[in-house]
Amino acid sequence: MSTTGTCCDVQPGMLSVEHAIEQLLAQAAAISESEQVGLAAAAGRVLASDLASPIDVPGFDNSAMDGYALHSRDFETAKDAGLPVTQRITAGSVGERLQPGCAARIFTGAPLPEGADTVVMQERCRVAGDRVWLETAAAAGSNIRPRGNDIAAGSIVLERGTRLQAAHLGLAASVGIATVEVSRRLRVGVFSTGDELAEPGKPLAPGQIYNSNRYQLNALLAAQGCEVIDLGSIADDFSTTRETLLQAAAQADLVMTTGGVSVGEEDHVKAALEAVGTLHLWRIRMKPGKPLAFGRIGDTPFIGLPGNPVSVFVTFMLLARPYLQAMQGRTHGGSRRYPVRAGFDYRANQRREYVRVRLHADQDGMPVAQTFPRQGSDVLSSVAWADGLVEIAEDSTVQAGETVSFLPFAEWAR
Ligand code: AMP
Ligand code: MG
Repeated sequence: MSTTGTCCDVQPGMLSVEHAIEQLLAQAAAISESEQVGLAAAAGRVLASDLASPIDVPGFDNSAMDGYALHSRDFETAKDAGLPVTQRITAGSVGERLQPGCAARIFTGAPLPEGADTVVMQERCRVAGDRVWLETAAAAGSNIRPRGNDIAAGSIVLERGTRLQAAHLGLAASVGIATVEVSRRLRVGVFSTGDELAEPGKPLAPGQIYNSNRYQLNALLAAQGCEVIDLGSIADDFSTTRETLLQAAAQADLVMTTGGVSVGEEDHVKAALEAVGTLHLWRIRMKPGKPLAFGRIGDTPFIGLPGNPVSVFVTFMLLARPYLQAMQGRTHGGSRRYPVRAGFDYRANQRREYVRVRLHADQDGMPVAQTFPRQGSDVLSSVAWADGLVEIAEDSTVQAGETVSFLPFAEWAR
């Protein structure tokens, strides 16, 4: 593969990134099994049914402040003569009806007593003995959180397909729901291919490299909430590849591999997959990450990522992740782009480029992207260093100061 983006990058039958995603998604079937899990175990799981609230939240009008509850018609008296404080209402307790011309000491979250329509924060009051004076003008109705302000009973608070994050779990708890129906975890069978691979912790023989894809890919899958069935790494050999594919497919909802999808004699994934199923070997007009294999082993879908570690990361995030999210029944799986300023010059040739960048704030606080100095598909340091990718269209030039599209890594972990 050319690294300079010369004429040799243009090959007939190269797919655009959008087209590849479209084709993948067209074939993605969501797993149908679901299970009930308690909220404490539901972080990162995908909601399998809409969640409706059985209650209003808050369930009663309550105070947003520590202060004094009164009726706005008594504001003038409260400023001049003060009002007697006739009750004290703490969070969790219920007061009595407030008599005209009186005030109630009230705390944040405590129910507003009947007969009051306003809470004045304590910093704006003066207290002497059992009377309270208003020191500044108050607005009628202020500092009250009305019943149903957050959530109305019967409304959908979380939609199916939502991957449950902290705020979602808090929201489910706030409406009193203790267990949620989530999709079964997606089981992904994974192995790396390559005669050159050694496992970390062992000495390297001449010509060997450490298997980084295995650890990177397992962690990427785990971050997407998948259950990883790790079949380790295998030699570049047709029958081992074929057997391992079958073994993976028998246990998994999806099989993913790294390496062996180029077109050299030592790339056996293609032939092995053709022997046990169907395969499309795609060349995608993107850099890094041109080759990608997609197929089926029986009914089990298969995605063969490239071998170079940066290509693994980029093709996983842009192509495999939307596909597996669709299998998980997730919605909102796309990659959002944000405009940032380029702090670099760049020229992309016939393939769309995904450049590893970090964001800095310029003098005005606006984000500026700086590139990692080495952008080769083998330079995993670039991914570890970066905050995200800048996408540069095929056949285009970027000059410092222009606006470019930034894809933050942080969003992909959600
Ligand atoms: P391949 O697609 O198998 O030809 O691999 C392309 C490049 O990625 C080669 O330089 C491989 O040595 C490297 N590579 C493949 N698999 C891994 C892996 N698991 N960890 C690190 N590098 C790899
Ligand atoms: Mg290889």
